[in-house]
Amino acid sequence: MTDTFRALVLDQDDAGKVSASLQTLGNDRLPDADTTVAVKYSSLNYKDGMILNGLGKLVRDYPHIPGVDFVGVVESCVSGAFQPGDDVICTGWRVGEVWWGGFATRARVKSEWLVPLPKGLDSVQAMGLGTAGLTAMLALMALEDHGLTPESEGEVLVTGASGGVGSVAVALLSNLGYRVAAGTGRDSSHDYLTGLGAASLVSRAELEETPRGPLSKARWSGAIDNVGGKILGNLLSSLQPGASCAAVGNAGGFTFEASVLPFLLRGVNLLGIDSVACPTARRVTAWNRLAAELPMDKLGAVAEVHPLSEAPALGKRILEGAVRGRTVIDVNA
Ligand code: NDP
Repeated sequence: MTDTFRALVLDQDDAGKVSASLQTLGNDRLPDADTTVAVKYSSLNYKDGMILNGLGKLVRDYPHIPGVDFVGVVESCVSGAFQPGDDVICTGWRVGEVWWGGFATRARVKSEWLVPLPKGLDSVQAMGLGTAGLTAMLALMALEDHGLTPESEGEVLVTGASGGVGSVAVALLSNLGYRVAAGTGRDSSHDYLTGLGAASLVSRAELEETPRGPLSKARWSGAIDNVGGKILGNLLSSLQPGASCAAVGNAGGFTFEASVLPFLLRGVNLLGIDSVACPTARRVTAWNRLAAELPMDKLGAVAEVHPLSEAPALGKRILEGAVRGRTVIDVNA
């Protein structure tokens, strides 16, 4: 193991402005935990965009290394939970927020935060999925737990469909035989989303339209919502009786404006998805299912690989909603 590693380090000035620079640090700077991993790839998520831009007060202490997920090879594991040479994935547990993350060639984390890289996935594919892929699978599993099957009548709506979670959700659902309606604000994404398997497209404007009353036509057999805000309230009133919406994200706003009537008169369910503290057993199941059930040929269209130096610029673009699909960060490039 080398004595140093390279990282994208965030610092904050006295005025609270956050800036990023590539630095070489000694291993003695790594946080205290049992497992050291040689990182191969990380990925850029919406939360990384917020952290790179100092938004949301997600980071408490600077200097900080962002990167909420990574894939790599175990270099040492004091607890013996992993062996040197094991391929592992880390997502969640607030790594990259309150703990130094994956935008570095080396990371040190608790072994219980790691899952083995599932058979059938290589490192680039693993981060092509990353936190977004895991979250899409957790959302699908929650909908299935509440009765959704490919035989359910009607389409499953995915909002923010061109984003990371949305793209994986569209590809995954359609590959499993669900009819998917992709909700998007981008006309330019139409071919991309139908290529991933969307059966129909719904414009963001239509999803945002104020409905005439608290209940709209019962349309969706289920939904995966990445945007929150008005769209989430609206789509609840368009769910079929007994159907569920997995609430994943808030790219469109934090507020929640909804009527209770869809819950009272149609028995709909609103299921919160938390990939950060998801139990390890469910996490392992989700990763194994991703490896087995996601069409990897479609992932090629979803993921782009960029060097670590480009992460700050990409972090600005993801906040503008301008990044499509998944962005893999090659930390050694
Ligand atoms: P991305 O930025 O990749 O995708 C978000 C998508 O939402 C965009 O591509 C865009 O899709 C749409 N969008 C962007 N801005 C707006 C807006 N103002 N109004 C409506 N739609 C908008 O993010 P991710 O896919 O990585 O994450 C999606 C959300 O899920 C984020 O809020 C993220 O923080 C959250 N998340 C939650 C997790 C959990 O555990 N609950 C885990 C991972 C992410 P289009 O152009 O097609 O409309």
